[in-house]
Amino acid sequence: MPGTEYFGEEEKKEVNDVLESGMLFRYNHDNQRNGHWKAREFEQLFEEYTGAKHAHAVSSGSAAVACMMAAAGIGYKDEVICTPFTFIAPIEAVLFAGGIPVFAEVDETLNLSAASIEAAITPNTKAVLLIHMCGAAADLDGIKAVCKKHNIKLLEDAGQALGTFYKGKHVGLHGEAGAVSFDFFKITTAGEGGVCFTNDTEKYEIMGQFSDHGHSHIGDNRGMESHPIMGFNYRLGELNAAVAVAQMRKLEMIRENNIKNKTILKERLRKEVPFITFRCLPDEEGDSATFLNFFMETPELAQAAANQCAKDGVGVAYWYTNMYHFINQWDHLKALKSPYKLAIHDYENRQDYNALELPKSQNIIGRLLSVGIRATWTEAEVNKLADDIIASLHAVVAVN
Ligand SMILES: *Cc1c(COP(=O)(O)O)cnc(C)c1O
Repeated sequence: MPGTEYFGEEEKKEVNDVLESGMLFRYNHDNQRNGHWKAREFEQLFEEYTGAKHAHAVSSGSAAVACMMAAAGIGYKDEVICTPFTFIAPIEAVLFAGGIPVFAEVDETLNLSAASIEAAITPNTKAVLLIHMCGAAADLDGIKAVCKKHNIKLLEDAGQALGTFYKGKHVGLHGEAGAVSFDFFKITTAGEGGVCFTNDTEKYEIMGQFSDHGHSHIGDNRGMESHPIMGFNYRLGELNAAVAVAQMRKLEMIRENNIKNKTILKERLRKEVPFITFRCLPDEEGDSATFLNFFMETPELAQAAANQCAKDGVGVAYWYTNMYHFINQWDHLKALKSPYKLAIHDYENRQDYNALELPKSQNIIGRLLSVGIRATWTEAEVNKLADDIIASLHAVVAVN
């Protein structure tokens, strides 16, 4: 959890700026804020770092996905192609917007493959909601070509992929819009927070309005502003924005340290564990290096290795059985348990999530093990972890 590793004086200073004025609200009140506009400053830093023309900060990554979908006009009974391997937030965003998630297969990039997206397209497909899982980009060239050919929108949930690039361009900027999260577990954190971003000025305006009850944000009298569309409250408060400002300034340093530590770990495993293979990276240079992902030969071996690592106290994650990151455990989704009626409940052509077969994804995620990289590790610490992982993996293979 790199962002939290570097929480310190810089964050305190930014938060103090806000506490001293007491102006916790991001809009208006120009004379009461001692010149501090933390949400705006966060957005500017985000635009500078990613190269986005427009960034709009909101209250969470989930909110950012919701605003991105609103900006792209994705809603009632629109089919959206999704991945079965993701934190569940984007699936919820599609459902609660009235959309219909259609699941396709991941490949060894751990992201949706262009071929599986193409196979999932129907006359009702409106968009692909691509997730760049674990800090590395999907095969964007292939996926963009499929979207173009079939005239469907590409939206990117880069919730876990701030600091991730594909061929020199930040992820989230390869389609119509992108979203990232600043929750507690991401590369940089504001406690809670998110950003939706785009190069399209009209979509940016919708993001701003949708996240704040439709407010146009024109003029200096909030109560008298026009409301071109309906919206909701996804606003980011100035306290969280202040933390995000300090964290944005640390992002590149964190990314560089991640890369340094991941490289050491990966080289050790590559040399000393001949029976594993590594995640396929369509752009290795653009990796934000938040995770090292590798595959065992079979799902059974991966489960045994995960058990062994847990027993040995070695920090290796097994996503396949995680309640929130892989479709197998989403029984609330499979039963379509919602507090209120959604479009999907009477959508006749929906995939039967209970009968859904995704053999490729089952095999790939079943064989997957992940190590979360820490940016603050010393070289000795990385090597100690490598020793431990290597010992646990060899112990498993020796008895299986
Ligand atoms: C974390 C995450 C989100 C949600 O972010 P929150 O800030 O926790 O709402 C969305 N999408 C992906 C891919 C994520 O990993």
